[in-house]
Amino acid sequence: MTFDNFSLHPQILRALSAAGYTEPTGIQSKAIPKILKGFDIRASAQTGTGKTGAFLLPALNRLTAPSAKSGKGPRLLIIVPTRELAMQVELQAQKYSRFLPHLKSACVVGGVPYSAQLRKLSKPCDILIATPGRLIDFMDRSKIDFSRLEILVLDEADRMLDMGFLEPVEQIVAATPAERQTLLFSATLQGSVKALSEKLLNKPMDIVVHTEHEKHENISQTIYYTDGLEHKNRLLNHILQMEEVERTIIFTSTKRHADELVDDLLAQGHRAAVLHGDMKQRQRTRTIAQMKQGEIKVLVATDVASRGIDVQAVSHVINFDLPRSPEDYVHRIGRTGRAGATGTALSFASHRDSFIVKKIEAFTGQKIATSAIAGLEPVVKQKKRFNAPQRKRFSHSRGRR
Ligand code: AMP
Repeated sequence: MTFDNFSLHPQILRALSAAGYTEPTGIQSKAIPKILKGFDIRASAQTGTGKTGAFLLPALNRLTAPSAKSGKGPRLLIIVPTRELAMQVELQAQKYSRFLPHLKSACVVGGVPYSAQLRKLSKPCDILIATPGRLIDFMDRSKIDFSRLEILVLDEADRMLDMGFLEPVEQIVAATPAERQTLLFSATLQGSVKALSEKLLNKPMDIVVHTEHEKHENISQTIYYTDGLEHKNRLLNHILQMEEVERTIIFTSTKRHADELVDDLLAQGHRAAVLHGDMKQRQRTRTIAQMKQGEIKVLVATDVASRGIDVQAVSHVINFDLPRSPEDYVHRIGRTGRAGATGTALSFASHRDSFIVKKIEAFTGQKIATSAIAGLEPVVKQKKRFNAPQRKRFSHSRGRR
């Protein structure tokens, strides 16, 4: 299948071809025709699958026809959980609409001054990408006019609920026209996301795609059992010296721990930087840009800050601490192996983490191999799992410091 199979506007097809995208991804093949027909959609899709294109391409296509209503408010509203994701979505919107220069976008997110965003909102805007908190601020100041709104997208809805945005999201949706088309994308469609979708969507079509990529079968996943912090540090030091480890994202469970770890890595001479929610937006953007340019090789991140990091050629994701939820695990490892590449995800777990490992395996439907590095095995052996037959040893290491 090619993009020509969809009746997309020629200038959108031109932009896709300029981006070098020839074939739609699984989620795009399934979602685009249904969205073009005007259905509400409830889609389960992980990051890295092309989900942003799946909603942006048909939504932009609709915006190629003039609005039936006068006004200057947005016709397409995309609500996302984090600033980083908002910026990624805006970049993709600009990429796909580059030959439709009359379509204007604006991005309203927290953590940056109001003035520039206010200036943008005072001009006509077709596409508005927003995080819930800042959007509500502007709505409270009567700066947003939803009278022209045609399409509402809730991206990474599960994450928004995890972050406590249920009420703001409901408040925003209530302010939009009832006859809108609503598209909900989420890593999972269970529990509270399902309840929310039933409230906000009109007879939605469900889209669930289980492609190899979505199951992250292109990412080799391994668990190293560890005895504690000191053991984790030694393992990490060893792994970072392996030749095939290039751009790496390391996840920790807390901001404080991320700060401490990056200090250690810098002291050891690694080109490392930290990315977490306490940093100013400008710093976060600069850090991601430095990672993209290869100036930074190791990024130490927390879950919230990692949303929307779209850096190609990340060879390794290392879970220094396991995440609390299987959804976070899937999001984290999806930072490697992007757009069809292969990747490696290594997780450090203590023998007390077996429960979360089992939850992750049940969620992904995949068993994660356990391994150990010669000379760095845990003293506290993981019953059964550690003695599993798939245990392997690295023979290609360059030794430890
Ligand atoms: P997403 O899941 O939306 O975060 O997209 C993951 C990455 O895949 C982004 O860098 C996109 O620009 C890229 N991408 C999206 N659609 C396609 C496509 N059809 N072919 C190749 N790459 C794509």
